[in-house]
Order: sequence, then C-alpha cells, then structure tokens
Amino acid sequence: MSVEFEAAEALRHLALDESIKAYVLQHPPLYQAGLQAAMRFIGGETLDECVQTGAATNQQGHAVTIDFMGESTRDEVTAAQATQEFLNVIRAITHKGLDASISLDLSHIGLVIDPELAYKNALILARTAHEAGLEMMISMEGADRTTLILDIHNRLCEQFSNVGITLQAYLYRTSEDLTVVMQRPGKIRLVKGAYEAPSTLVYSRGAALDVAYRQQMELLIESGHACSIATHDSDILDYAHQLIQNQALATRSIEFEMLRGVTLERLDTMHQRGYRTRIYLPYGKEWHLYLCNRLAEHPPNLYQAVTDLVNKAALLPTVA
Ligand SMILES: Cc1cc2nc3c(=O)[nH]c(=O)nc-3n(C[C@H](O)[C@H](O)[C@H](O)COP(=O)(O)OP(=O)(O)OC[C@H]3O[C@@H](n4cnc5c(N)ncnc54)[C@H](O)[C@@H]3O)c2cc1C
Repeated sequence: MSVEFEAAEALRHLALDESIKAYVLQHPPLYQAGLQAAMRFIGGETLDECVQTGAATNQQGHAVTIDFMGESTRDEVTAAQATQEFLNVIRAITHKGLDASISLDLSHIGLVIDPELAYKNALILARTAHEAGLEMMISMEGADRTTLILDIHNRLCEQFSNVGITLQAYLYRTSEDLTVVMQRPGKIRLVKGAYEAPSTLVYSRGAALDVAYRQQMELLIESGHACSIATHDSDILDYAHQLIQNQALATRSIEFEMLRGVTLERLDTMHQRGYRTRIYLPYGKEWHLYLCNRLAEHPPNLYQAVTDLVNKAALLPTVA
C-alpha cells in the first residue's frame, strides 16, 4: 500500500469524524488554519463572498452552482436554519442576476433526523427555486443514504421539473438507478463518488470505475437527457468530446461541471470547445468534510495546503 493511498484513506476517515470537526470549529487558530487551505476550494465563508466569487466566475464564462455547506444535521432547528439559508441563496442569485443553480445535501436539511422532514424542506426549496426559474441539484451522499435520496428525488420530480440528482458511477447499483432516473425530468449529474464505502458496493478508483463512468456517460449523452458530466478526468473529457463530435450530437442538454480550485484549465478547454460549463461553489463554515475529501482524492493537494498555510503565516504579525 503506497503512502499516498494510506494518506487518502486516513483523510477520508478523518472527514467523517464529527468530533474532530467540532474540535476544529471550536478552536479559532485551527479553524483559521484549515480555512486558509479550504479557501482554494470554496466560494467563501459567507453568502456575500460566495456571490462575489460567483459573479467573477460567470465573467470567466462558467455558470456556477452554489451550495451552503453542511451535512448530517442532527436537529430540526438546524435543518430549518439551513433551509432558510438556501432560500437566501435563491434570493441572492435572483437579485444579482447570476447564472447559477443551487446544490444541496438532503442530510443538511433533515434526512438523518427524518426523511419526511428532508422531503418537506426540499419541497419548499424546489418550489421557490422553480418560481425563480432556477435549478436545484441534489448531491449524493454515503451508500446507506442512496435509496432514501432517490426516493425523495422521485417525489419532488412528480411536482417539479427543475430538480436534478447526482449519481455516483462507483456504486455497482448505479447502472440500474440510471435507467430509472432517466425516466424523470431534471438534470442528472454523473460523478465518480467521493465517500468511503465497502468494496462489496463500489468499484475502487481505477480502470473498472473509469469503464463504468464511460458507459454511464455514453448512455446519458446519447439519450439527450439533460446531464452534467462532473469530472476532472481529462481522458474521460476527451472521450466525451470525441463521442459528441463523431455522432454530431446536439450539445444543448450537456454540461461539463467541475469543483472550484480543481483543474480549471480543463474546464476552460471544454468551454473553448463550445460546451456549457459550470463550477461548483460551496460556502460556509462547514468546510471540514469538503476539504478532507479534496485532499484525499488528490494527495499532492496536501503539499499545496501546507504551502497555503505557510504563506498565510508569513503575512501574520509576529508575536514578540
Ligand atoms: C460538480 C461536482 C459535484 C460533485 N458532487 C458529488 C456528490 O454529490 N457526491 C459524491 O460522492 N461526489 C461528488 N463529487 C466528487 C466526485 O465524486 C469525485 O470525488 C471528484 O470529482 C474527483 O473525481 P474525478 O471524476 O475528477 O476523477 P479522479 O480520477 O479522481 O481525478 C481525475 C484527475 O483530476 C484531477 N483531480 C481530481 N480531483 C482533484 C483534486 N481534488 N485536486 C486536484 N486535482 C484533482 C487529477 O488530475 C486527477 O488525476 C462531485 C464532483 C463534482 C465535479
């Protein structure tokens, strides 16, 4: 087992440790240090900062999707506050005229407390987004939540056409889920999958996962169903481009989407090739899980994180 693989596994584990997250949140020096590393990947700490980042990103030619970071909310009050904050996001997008959608984790608005609570909160958001002419994308979480999330997506799709869903190519079940979800309106965002999961349920990173991703992507692209090809994998991006060109497929329903701070030049290339492109912009104070996942999926980012820290430290006043 390589050191990098071990580091990635340790980070994925760390990402899910809520006591470490709470510890970081309660200790300002630790929080500030982590925030410094996280800033590369997030739109800001506040909605205002994120809206500014979104406007600048729009000017570079990319749409954005804004997510108020958080997951696994344990009480109804926090779930209601998160729902309210997403309503603020919708209002801010409309007010500023951003080319933007919203993205959210259903566990942020109540899934772990009670799926019915998450559904009710999601319904409020879907309706408000629909009235504002915006799209709402649902993220996909750990494998123990897949069925619950797909069920809520199904119920929302019975009423609204603006609710998209994320599918993870690493899950064995996804090839079947995809054919079901393709019967529903709403964009399908295809990702490789970021959560720790048992090998009985998922392909591990590597050739088999890439084959699964390509097969699912082909099905999506050729179907004409609205989709987001959400990967930074340059081989897969080139393959998608060839596929679209060879079959002279219409590109209206296809979008390429990447995370802020990750291989932006590849998104620029897709934009220059004439595709609609989008950047995922999360914001807020709950960046612990998000940062750990970004470091885990590309361990060289650890060096970058340390550099960000040192550079920030150089700017701080020295204590005599
Ligand atoms: C818009 C969007 C939404 C997402 N939503 C979800 C979700 O709801 N649920 C979920 O489980 N996952 C989600 N993900 C994360 C996803 O599952 C992957 O973990 C992540 O995209 C990395 O996989 P990849 O497809 O880029 O391929 P990889 O094989 O991981 O990476 C391909 C190449 O991209 C570059 N790269 C990838 N990641 C990084 C990085 N962090 N830093 C620097 N370079 C990097 C490297 O050059 C790497 O070789 C989302 C991703 C995107 C883009």
